[in-house]
Amino acid sequence: MEKKTAFIYSDIYLKHNTGKSHPERKERLTAIVEHLNRTGLMEELIQAPIRLPTRQEIALVHPESYIDQLQRDIEGGATYLDPDTRVSPESYDVALHAVGGALTAVDQVLQGRVHTAFCAVRPPGHHAEPNKAMGFCLFNNVAIAARYAQHTYNLEKILIIDWDVHHGNGTQDIFYEDPTVFYFSIHQYPWYPGTGGSEERGAGKGKGFTLNIPVPAGTGDQEYISVFNSILRKQALAYAPDLILISAGFDAHRDDPLSHTRVTTEGFRSLSEIVSQIAQEKCEGRIVSVLEGGYNLQALAESVEAHLRVLRREV
Ligand SMILES: [Zn+2]
Repeated sequence: MEKKTAFIYSDIYLKHNTGKSHPERKERLTAIVEHLNRTGLMEELIQAPIRLPTRQEIALVHPESYIDQLQRDIEGGATYLDPDTRVSPESYDVALHAVGGALTAVDQVLQGRVHTAFCAVRPPGHHAEPNKAMGFCLFNNVAIAARYAQHTYNLEKILIIDWDVHHGNGTQDIFYEDPTVFYFSIHQYPWYPGTGGSEERGAGKGKGFTLNIPVPAGTGDQEYISVFNSILRKQALAYAPDLILISAGFDAHRDDPLSHTRVTTEGFRSLSEIVSQIAQEKCEGRIVSVLEGGYNLQALAESVEAHLRVLRREV
């Protein structure tokens, strides 16, 4: 059976200008959009207008003092928020729209307009901590989406699956003591940002609800698929989430310049299938997938296509 899938995108995302040599550049999104147009897949996807988040919605994760400081810094002409995180005058507004894209996707899925949604947004989010921009990320889009889904739609349990090749230190930090959001990450290790060891399992009431699978350089499809089929599947079915969010970075691809893992486009298709099966078994197929990294333009565009084709069908 075919499913309805939303593709959340706006040209506004191109206005976050990181300069010519930065890997997290606007061409990432234009490559995805052009590829989806060329393959005809775009016509099959549901487009939805992106709404801006309210201040209260962002404050579900980031203190208002951080929101204000970020706006002041960027509008005051800051160019770097940390050694990796380049911004331009439009970046604050674009970052608001990236959060808004994720919230729009949650609305689309939880109001039953679509079954699944993919957000082609930038800047990415999973390195952003409540009080700190880092690793190309300003606001933690996925974390805000998780909190928003809980507050607005009364969901009890959310599973975040983060397959970006870098550990999502920000997302882990936000939910580390929270059993209502299960954070799963598979990532190259040791590697940027340095966190994500297997001993990091959550704390307090959240103990056991963070699961890190660090993998060495050279890890490929077979190992990734095996982790998803055994470890993730078992944990996810036992957890029984009401919604699955994916921090969908495609920088674990073998052609990606920012990693040494060897996942292929086919590999991302398989990972998407396993997640889709879990969603069908436990949460009526509901998935909101939000772009994180992915820096080889062709690998990124083709992997997003493979991912979207799985989100569109029963598996
Ligand atoms: Zn990454």
